[in-house]
Amino acid sequence: MLLNINNLHVSINEKEIIKGLNFSVNKGEVHAIMGPNGTGKSTLAAAVTGREGYEVTKGEIIYKGQIINDWQPDKRANEGIFLSFQYPIEIPGVNMINFMRTAVNAQREYKGLPAMSASEFLKKTEKEKKLVEINSKLTNRSVNEGFSGGEKKKNEIFQMAMLEPQLAILDETDSGLDIDALKVVAKGVNKLRSKNNAFIIITHYQRLLDYIEPDFVHVMYNGRIVKSGGKGLAHELEEHGYDWIKKQFDD
Ligand code: ADP
Ligand code: MG
Repeated sequence: MLLNINNLHVSINEKEIIKGLNFSVNKGEVHAIMGPNGTGKSTLAAAVTGREGYEVTKGEIIYKGQIINDWQPDKRANEGIFLSFQYPIEIPGVNMINFMRTAVNAQREYKGLPAMSASEFLKKTEKEKKLVEINSKLTNRSVNEGFSGGEKKKNEIFQMAMLEPQLAILDETDSGLDIDALKVVAKGVNKLRSKNNAFIIITHYQRLLDYIEPDFVHVMYNGRIVKSGGKGLAHELEEHGYDWIKKQFDD
């Protein structure tokens, strides 16, 4: 099992947001997590990546057989956990390609590998740029600075392709994207999917799942996963909305 979450409770500023969540992911699987706004989907992603301010008060996050509750975010990233943000940050003055070279080589150093040679890095960069259909105009700019929503997202898929994570979490990658950008994101995920990695796709709408076929769909509500199923569940939610879930699980 790649990720195993047991009875997870997470608080922000002492307010409990995740309230006893169980969830597990095997290598080779794509899981979609859906649910109404404010139910804790982004909080779950933040807890798995170890973002500051998200306090695990109970339960375990087990990744590759180890409890990682106390791991720093950079260790989690070095061990292959990647999060695509719902709202990517801009880093003015930091060139995209240099940023990626630093990130890629930091992970290689962690793994005891030598830094990528300039030509190797260039080759990889060109390959992954094609995958997400971004050009050098974008990658030569500062990270995300002045990028459109679609460009930021493509950029994140590019970063993901460069870093080759084992567990990639995409948070609301579809919000605010036009259909072309959405297709590029999906194409990137579909190309990167393998029997050795796994994806967690967090999405409010079913739309992205027309292009990325999940193995499992989960509904999150009020800090828990309240329903799990196959991809049919996403269509059911599309058709009936979340009210029937809310009625069933409101406390
Ligand atoms: P979702 O991604 O499902 O829309 P979130 O995980 O973003 O939900 O938010 C879950 C709940 O946590 C919401 O009620 C939200 O207001 C609250 N929340 C999120 N971030 C913070 C924060 N930094 N401080 C206080 N409350 C927060
Ligand atoms: Mg969210």
